[in-house]
Amino acid sequence: MESKCDKKGQGKGDVAIGIDLGTTYSCVAVWKNDGVEIIANDQGNRTTPSYVGFTDTERFIGDAAYNQVAINPVNTVFDAKRLIGRRFNDISVQDDKKLWPFKVIAGPSEKPMIVVNFKGVEKQFSAEEISAMVLLKMKITAEAYIGSLVKKAVVTVPAYFTDAQRQATKDAGTIAGLNVIRIINEPTAAAIAYGLNKDYASGSFVGEKNVLIFDLGGGTFDVSILTIEAGIFEVKATAGNTHLGGEDFDNRMLNYFVEEFKRKHQKDLSGDPRSIRRLRTACERAKRTLSSYKHAPIELESLYEGIDYRSKMSRAKFEELNMDLFMQCMEPVDICLKDAKMSKSDIHDVVIVGGSTRIPKVQQLLRDFFNGKELCKSINPDEAVAYGAAVQAAILSGKGDEKIQNIVLMDVNPLSLGIECVGQVASVVIPRNTTIPTTKEHNYTTAADNQTSVKFKVIEGERVRSTDNKILGEFLLSGINPAPRGVAKLSATFDIDANGVLTVYGEDKITGSRNKIRINNSMGRLSKEEIERMVGDAERFKAEDEEHAKKIQSMNALENYLKDMRNLIWGIQVGSVLSEAEKTRMENAIKISFHWLDSNRLAEAYEFEHKLEEFEFICKPLMVKLGGSAYAGSLPKRQRTGP
Ligand code: AMP
Repeated sequence: MESKCDKKGQGKGDVAIGIDLGTTYSCVAVWKNDGVEIIANDQGNRTTPSYVGFTDTERFIGDAAYNQVAINPVNTVFDAKRLIGRRFNDISVQDDKKLWPFKVIAGPSEKPMIVVNFKGVEKQFSAEEISAMVLLKMKITAEAYIGSLVKKAVVTVPAYFTDAQRQATKDAGTIAGLNVIRIINEPTAAAIAYGLNKDYASGSFVGEKNVLIFDLGGGTFDVSILTIEAGIFEVKATAGNTHLGGEDFDNRMLNYFVEEFKRKHQKDLSGDPRSIRRLRTACERAKRTLSSYKHAPIELESLYEGIDYRSKMSRAKFEELNMDLFMQCMEPVDICLKDAKMSKSDIHDVVIVGGSTRIPKVQQLLRDFFNGKELCKSINPDEAVAYGAAVQAAILSGKGDEKIQNIVLMDVNPLSLGIECVGQVASVVIPRNTTIPTTKEHNYTTAADNQTSVKFKVIEGERVRSTDNKILGEFLLSGINPAPRGVAKLSATFDIDANGVLTVYGEDKITGSRNKIRINNSMGRLSKEEIERMVGDAERFKAEDEEHAKKIQSMNALENYLKDMRNLIWGIQVGSVLSEAEKTRMENAIKISFHWLDSNRLAEAYEFEHKLEEFEFICKPLMVKLGGSAYAGSLPKRQRTGP
């Protein structure tokens, strides 16, 4: 039952990274020098916004996308995690859609597709593709730090993610060129970080600790109870809501201010994506402020139709606006305790992770729930999940020291899985909170005389009536010998792998006829061909991004060189180094080059380089003269920007 620590198929030489693919922020980490390193991105930030922006000329991912969101709201995509593995008609998608400035439409098989304008053309992307872009950014960040290509990753998902959401996350990894060697649950990853931090993982720790992980992030919420003993991390139960988090709190504040604006100015700004985006960003900032202060100002110049907007939010008002959502966060805690067959007093440590656990009211409600017990805040809520994922990646790739190689993780499936039987009855094959990986078989028979085929409908959920649960897929088992009803001996075998991904086999025990299903395309999953196409697209976009970056670098190199030379020339006294004629020639060359640059901003990298070489040639005589003069120290350095 060791779900996480088989080392099969993992080469020793290559590095595997851990990625926390968050709704609003993502984080990447790697095991290095007997410890976990959280890797900072090119902006020096340890978490990266899960944002992708598209413009007429380029694609931005991460901080660069986040920084241009106010000027490009309709073409900047975020929240892909709220869409992944869902169908267009899901209530949550319909609700979210109203608040997103970007457009989401129904694609084939009800798959939600994000519509943006990219390089002057309308493009549609699936949530898997957008997530793949974020994963790619994390991959590149890690590669820059490690100094070699990274092909393997452990990616985390909320414990409460469904089978479809897990599969789709794996597909996103594939599109990004990553072999997702394991999907692990976010709270489980956080528990590893906590366990290692507390030294619960080592053999030297004696005794059993029951730890409750309360993970409230930007868009998802998970509660898990684990028992940690001598390096064995066993998940006892998990519960949560894949659609509850910081963004819901932002939305409440956003709606409040939209109404206030209406009242104060008799104008409705809700239809203007740019105003909404600016207000949303201000709300998020105010929310963070309210975790430390009692009041937060909102000040937005020319927010809508030239109107400056000034307001403020108090912590009390913020709590009032969100109290029902905060209370909703306590329900899964209760469910989780019941499922784990534990009482509040059995929990040794309550560990909080996820940025939204910084909200004082959330902390207070949780503390009150546990009768005043102090919450454990010793691990960084933004980084703990990536930390645990990196430990898991090290274990799987045979890296790391004894301390982690002895870790054993036993996770569970979050939702019951079964088959629909006659009369819309849900027949559970694997109950929720069963330790994974697991294989379970159930026997069935025909419901009518002379039935030669049976349709197996695979369902997921806790409701008694099958139609109240989620249908994951269906397949036909045919070739059954005609016989009176109840004679045929059929079986359904459910297999959940260590990633929590399900495969179902149906078998006629008499004829040996078999069929199996993995969630297929008709249920919204990408087909193999689609994934292959998207892998190709992703590589093309990456190459285009690189090409564009090279272009910008070459353009900047030319511009900087011109500026440096102009400044140098300005400082030179006629007659000291240059004659009047030489100085004029140089000034003209600079003027002409600047003019060329301004009229050719869209030129290719090689054209900028060529221009730079040309200009350098003109400058050569001056350089030679300056070489022996007092100006030599201030000469601009020629930067070669091409490959
Ligand atoms: P995560 O998914 O764990 O990165 O959490 C991101 C969420 O945490 C976002 O909704 C942030 O707005 C929220 N967050 C981060 N810092 C704070 C804070 N100081 N107070 C309240 N919410 C925060």
